[in-house]
Amino acid sequence: MAVNPLDSAPLSESDSNTTANTRASSGELSSALLTRYAGPCPRYTSYPTADRFTDLSAGSATAAGADARKPWDALQDINTLSLYVHIPFCRSLCYFCACNKVITQQYGLASSYLDRVLTEAQWYREKVARVPVTQLHLGGGTPTYLNDGDLTRLVQGLGDIFDLNPGGDVEYSVEADPRVLEPETLDTLRGLGFNRLSMGIQDFNPEVQRAINRICSPEQVRGLTEAARERGFGSISYDLIYGLPGQDVASLERTIDTVVELAPDRIALYHYAHLPHRFKAQRLISSDLIPPPQAKIDMQLAATRRLTDAGYQFLGMDHFARPDDPLARATKDGRLARNFQGYTLMPADALVGLGASAISYSRDGYWQNHHGQKEYATAIGERGEAICRGWQLDTDDRVRQWVIMELMCHLRLDKREVERRLGSPFEDYFAQDLARLRPLVADGLVLESREDLVVSERGRWFLRNIAAAFDRHLHAGASAAQYSRVL
Ligand code: SF4
Repeated sequence: MAVNPLDSAPLSESDSNTTANTRASSGELSSALLTRYAGPCPRYTSYPTADRFTDLSAGSATAAGADARKPWDALQDINTLSLYVHIPFCRSLCYFCACNKVITQQYGLASSYLDRVLTEAQWYREKVARVPVTQLHLGGGTPTYLNDGDLTRLVQGLGDIFDLNPGGDVEYSVEADPRVLEPETLDTLRGLGFNRLSMGIQDFNPEVQRAINRICSPEQVRGLTEAARERGFGSISYDLIYGLPGQDVASLERTIDTVVELAPDRIALYHYAHLPHRFKAQRLISSDLIPPPQAKIDMQLAATRRLTDAGYQFLGMDHFARPDDPLARATKDGRLARNFQGYTLMPADALVGLGASAISYSRDGYWQNHHGQKEYATAIGERGEAICRGWQLDTDDRVRQWVIMELMCHLRLDKREVERRLGSPFEDYFAQDLARLRPLVADGLVLESREDLVVSERGRWFLRNIAAAFDRHLHAGASAAQYSRVL
């Protein structure tokens, strides 16, 4: 899912020197720093974070009254649109999974779910200005659980309502599970206009794969990568995870070596958040097998070093791209943005998310659908939409949203630019936030000058903590325990 129509300042040359920025050693990240900052913290794929959303439905009154504007009213006033469709179905359970998914072999469930998604899309017909869809993303779950006929039905149905395939610079992407993707489906996807494929790899080590119940050989991935390239997919990305059960530095390095040989255009290297109290599937993983924080940081450092040595550019917090990839170029031009899928190119003016748990945004705020299949189906059947929660942005939220995304994407905050947006002195407005930031400055994670705040090499590992200093809602009394650990 995608977010944040934010302006951004370009990176300085030194900030974008990724090799220099990734040379922090394990020794430099002392155990004192780990103790202080490795605890739970939001990932800031949006601001405010989705857990702050409050009750909001299309028919409900807000605090400002029944006739008050809702965030989706701003969909009339946009120039470009992103679409996200959540397809939650999977054939088998991966034990690390924290996604909203349904494990089933009954294909009929997916087919009738698709009917509901297309009904929901109709609800937006009158609400969204007819503008080019510059980003389309199918996520899950496993979008390619849908057969080729239903994938075609989905995209053609969306095309009846939204302006798909406008030509020009568009990014139409699909998340794929290499264990269940057939080359023929790649033909279908290309024919429907998809130009980007994202594959969940996680780790190639057979022992780790057994521990997470996701067996997939490098040969399978190689075959699909080559097949996707032959069919003209312009960008192929792999998702990897560190901190999985049974992983260590040496095994992760072997996985990275295989990945480098397969040469995807982009790589996302995520931290595994073991939260068995929240995600039932994770109870199937023995906590004893989870590497401790110091081992995780060693893995992250080793993987980062190997990827940058192989020529990948380190972007933001956890993404890598070949220097000629549009995401790397966007970083250099100051157009890198962050949304519900992680780092992305500058997103559209608004996002419409379709399907269970999907989140949408406009410049006025966020809104999210019911999470459960039953609730989603009931709401669509009764009202044609399934919105249950959301957030209307106020002026303070907008400024903080910009500040947090600047730090997360560009590792720098221009104080004077914030003042131009605020119309008041930076130090006065953010006095409490700067007080919260002081220990991180003292620890050398942030370099502060009169003009700016710059994330240091060491600070990059604690980017979430730095951003959290500016999160007014996080510090308004709620517990941070529900978030994943930084390391
Ligand atoms: S990791 Fe992907 S394929 Fe595995 S259960 Fe979760 S959503 Fe399904």
